[in-house]
Amino acid sequence: MARLTDVHCHLVPPRLRGADGPSWRDPWFRDCHRAGARFASGAEVVAALDEAGLERAAVFGWPFSEPGLLAQQNDYVAEQAESSGGRLLGLALVNPARPGWEGELERCRHLGLLGVGELNADAQGFELDFGGSLGALLRSLAEMDWPLMLHASEPVGHAYPGKGSAFPERLWGLLVPALGALPRLRLCLAHLGGGLPLYGHMPEVATLCQRLWFDTAALPYLYSEGVLAAVEGILGPGRLCFGSDFPLLAPQRYRGHLDGLPPAALESLRAGAPEAWLGAAAAG
Ligand SMILES: [Zn+2]
Repeated sequence: MARLTDVHCHLVPPRLRGADGPSWRDPWFRDCHRAGARFASGAEVVAALDEAGLERAAVFGWPFSEPGLLAQQNDYVAEQAESSGGRLLGLALVNPARPGWEGELERCRHLGLLGVGELNADAQGFELDFGGSLGALLRSLAEMDWPLMLHASEPVGHAYPGKGSAFPERLWGLLVPALGALPRLRLCLAHLGGGLPLYGHMPEVATLCQRLWFDTAALPYLYSEGVLAAVEGILGPGRLCFGSDFPLLAPQRYRGHLDGLPPAALESLRAGAPEAWLGAAAAG
């Protein structure tokens, strides 16, 4: 029986994010937290899950550029997951643009982490290019049978801190060769893939989207309440995963977006699709 899952929660270790902590050296972190910083511990994620009637969450850190910060954060995510009694599934963060990510990935596997996310090209400074270091990381993840969460954003509409430029047009150039070469790659595009599924009336886009998952993170800030039913109508079942972006938004904030969905679609979004994306490592 698949469990009700939130696939998108961020944890930043207290020692990195305190007023004088090294997180504030990272320009992307600074921009995103300037207007008001919200951070969560593993226990706070579990409390949010309880409030929303969810069983578990995939948790990951912040997409820092510096490998040293990422390693400290991976240690913290692993500790929080380990002590959560199965409520939290820890994902690793590495930076494919910086040397040493291969060793860190292997270290994270020994720590008990189960995948990689949420990678962010703008924040971390890597190219959305299958020929470069990101392509090498995708090959490793396919071999390891690890899922990946990648940040995506809308090419139109309002600007906001953290939006970045991982737009559907740029993702297309990465995804066509990557999914062609790596049939085992399990990739979830955050934030509804920057709207990529909304082009799903184009047959080649629909075909590509059948190989991907899309999460709902930050939806209440971005789309009107009918968007999930519309995407479900275009793509069919099984591609949407519930993700809250907690602590930016609590899982409860998504009720308006979830209310209109038929029961089977809601079940898939909160349980079946997350389980399929997370894969065997998260099934036990
Ligand atoms: Zn994101």
